[in-house]
Amino acid sequence: MAEEYRVGGTCVIRGCVPKKLFVYASHFARDFETAKSFGWTIDKAEFDWPTLIANKDAEIDRLNAVYIRNLKAAGAELFLSRATLAGPNTVHIEAEGRDITAKTILIATGGWPFIPEIPGAEHVITSNEAFHLETLPDHITVVGGGFIAVEFACIFNGMGVDVSLLYRGEQILRGFDDDLRDALHDEMIKSGIDVRVMCDVMSIEREGEMFELELKTGHRLQTGLVMYATGRRPNVTGLGLEAAGVEQGPSGQIAVDAWSKTNIDSIYAVGDVTDRVSLTPVAIREGHAFADTVFGGKSIAVDHSDIASAVFSQPEIGTVGLTEAQARERFESVVIYRSTFRPMKLSLSELDEKMMMKLVVDGVSDRVVGCHILGDGAGEMAQLLGIAVKMGATKADFDATMALHPTAAEELVTMREPVKD
Ligand code: NDP
Repeated sequence: MAEEYRVGGTCVIRGCVPKKLFVYASHFARDFETAKSFGWTIDKAEFDWPTLIANKDAEIDRLNAVYIRNLKAAGAELFLSRATLAGPNTVHIEAEGRDITAKTILIATGGWPFIPEIPGAEHVITSNEAFHLETLPDHITVVGGGFIAVEFACIFNGMGVDVSLLYRGEQILRGFDDDLRDALHDEMIKSGIDVRVMCDVMSIEREGEMFELELKTGHRLQTGLVMYATGRRPNVTGLGLEAAGVEQGPSGQIAVDAWSKTNIDSIYAVGDVTDRVSLTPVAIREGHAFADTVFGGKSIAVDHSDIASAVFSQPEIGTVGLTEAQARERFESVVIYRSTFRPMKLSLSELDEKMMMKLVVDGVSDRVVGCHILGDGAGEMAQLLGIAVKMGATKADFDATMALHPTAAEELVTMREPVKD
């Protein structure tokens, strides 16, 4: 195995893991607010960013070491070096200046942040750098409307930074259920984030410690830091794909078949570099299926349908299956169940935050084909709902399930009246 930076992948080193630690950190502001309503007095709660960064770095160091230890224990030879393809069976290990050969080669080089080419693009940071900021400015502008933009806007907001989120389209989180998108947008505004849609950035200028953004709307925006979260691209630059004759798709991704094999029989690829579903557990499953297929004597193709996912925004999104719009395209009759309510935990507080649950049901088969949740624990709920949806549970199965009271999730089995068409 060859790795040019640290072992663990984007998720562990500069993605899901440090991000989730930041999410936990940023939740305390709201928790302290809620605590007051339960009679707690918390004097002078203060947040120290350098402490969080140091503790997070120590945890990532620990995980990096665990991965290296596990690899060695499994008998793998590890090259801490950049590697490039030199042919269908040859990999060049740069640090050692030599080629090694293998019967089979697996590429899992992930993705890399994409920044559009606009004047002043050199001033912006991406999520890579956000994990290592020395200080937090008073105001941060996040550009983009996907997973990373939304999560980081909420993280910085929770840490007391004034945040503007600028998105080029009509509504954030394109591809998610429209009710979820609208509801999260409302909640983010209520929590104090300056969310601006239909807002493209034309240029960025540096003025001392500050930055000034020229917006397509004609407005200008002053800010202490600009973070771009405008998508990620397959990490293939200089990888030697041409040398090995590996075919790529339109966005540079490595083209693979259902068994993750490229057009070259000896070369396989899994994870974000193949641009299928860019989520860690999907990459792990693709890797496992590759191992089963090539070395385990079991031919396994990964099923990419009904994958549960979460956006760790505040409040959180958890979702599995089809959106209402996708279901309406696919089925002749669609029945929607939706409930919006104030979570019990906030009932004593002044906080005006709503939770939303939505079930999308195929009107003919009665199968629940989509579940969408906004609120605390939505990701945890979506993981379990994923089992029910994968098993083909019907609305009648949901109805036959006894509620667990008092929980928020009980709403999922007690919604009886469909939303009027
Ligand atoms: P996304 O693809 O989710 O979002 C990219 C955003 O940037 C979209 O809103 C897109 O707008 C916008 N955008 C793209 N190009 C431009 C441009 N030229 N100018 C302005 N805006 C632009 O990517 P992310 O970077 O947020 O995340 C990358 C991937 O990482 C995700 O797709 C996800 O798979 C994974 N991820 C998963 C997480 C999780 O599971 N919780 C957390 C973080 C990342 P438009 O919608 O109009 O195209």
